[in-house]
Amino acid sequence: MNPIQMVDLHGQYLRIKPQIDAAINECLAETAFINGPQVKTFQDSLAAYLQAEHVIACGNGTDALQIAMMALNLSAGDEVIVPAFTYVATAEVIALLGLTPVMVDVDPNTFNITADLITQAITPKTKAIVPVHLFGQCCDMESIMMLAKENGLYVIEDTAQALGAKYTFSDGRVMYAGTIGDIGCTSFFPSKNLGCFGDGGALMTNNADLALKIRKIANHGQAKKYHHEMVGVNSRLDTLQAAILNIKLQYLDEYASARNFAASYYDRAFETLEGVQIPVRQVNSTHVFHQYTLLLDNDIDRESLKKYLELAGIPCMVYYPLPLHKQEAFKSERYKDGDFSIAESLCNRVLSLPMHSELEEDQLSHITNKLTAYVNSIKQLA
Ligand SMILES: *Cc1c(COP(=O)(O)O)cnc(C)c1O
Repeated sequence: MNPIQMVDLHGQYLRIKPQIDAAINECLAETAFINGPQVKTFQDSLAAYLQAEHVIACGNGTDALQIAMMALNLSAGDEVIVPAFTYVATAEVIALLGLTPVMVDVDPNTFNITADLITQAITPKTKAIVPVHLFGQCCDMESIMMLAKENGLYVIEDTAQALGAKYTFSDGRVMYAGTIGDIGCTSFFPSKNLGCFGDGGALMTNNADLALKIRKIANHGQAKKYHHEMVGVNSRLDTLQAAILNIKLQYLDEYASARNFAASYYDRAFETLEGVQIPVRQVNSTHVFHQYTLLLDNDIDRESLKKYLELAGIPCMVYYPLPLHKQEAFKSERYKDGDFSIAESLCNRVLSLPMHSELEEDQLSHITNKLTAYVNSIKQLA
């Protein structure tokens, strides 16, 4: 058996090495390292894949979120609703811009925010909602979009973990994560489902005015060189990264299938195992399994299980150990311990298993056997 990794970027590269190397070499020969033709090709290809009108590439997923907030003309004190259980980037850019991140608890099954939870946090100052499609499946976007419309709120989707996931509306329409709200933001960080070989990100929108504005903001607030209409930022996707992404985008569906194969293997092994809960699917969404995350019963000591698995050559991770309101950076009068009981409980009980496109059956068998043996031994003692 090959050593098991949480994410196997090298193995994924080796499969398509000739194509990647050729694309990189072409960039080296052309030396158009910034805004080379590969960047436009990638934006067009991703837009076609997602059936989005506009894709604007940028430096990373956090920049994408920041640029999205800047494009919507929000002003100091405006409130933006975010999940308490997420990666920090979502709330960070809100705070950086002088806006107020307002946290809400998440659904105990899907780990995502829902319209019901968001409703309770809406105030006259609320301007936008950021649904994060956590671990690879969409939030229930139909009800969230309806709520946003009723309250005149913008929706910025954080699809850094769910690129390629599809949401089906009750009228049968199917849309990709990131193309449903006003703006979608994604990341091409190497370990993401569509990862480049460094930093990268993009914004998606079907609104031509917003697209124009986003392009300007990402490029120092200029449409015409040295004519700056607004304060912007410098956030670009390197040509080399775009060249790599042009190749890897062709494999995104294959990668999602491989991840789903591993997820189904885990599901079959664990669905009847007492003490763990397998990922609960959002009914109207496909899942691209950025993470495969188990929820452990309270009587299973996560640290001991983690150590046991690591000794057996099985890496695993806790995404995330702390909810936003308990992070030093986001401590505020507004929140106290216990405010978001679901997020807090998830932080104590989640465990993510190895998940990537290169997992082999003998590895999956080793992982599921070891974890099952451990959990059974704990349950017998109890
Ligand atoms: C990775 C990630 C980001 C940030 O992307 P970077 O490219 O690392 O800046 C934002 N939100 C979520 C949910 C993420 O997982």
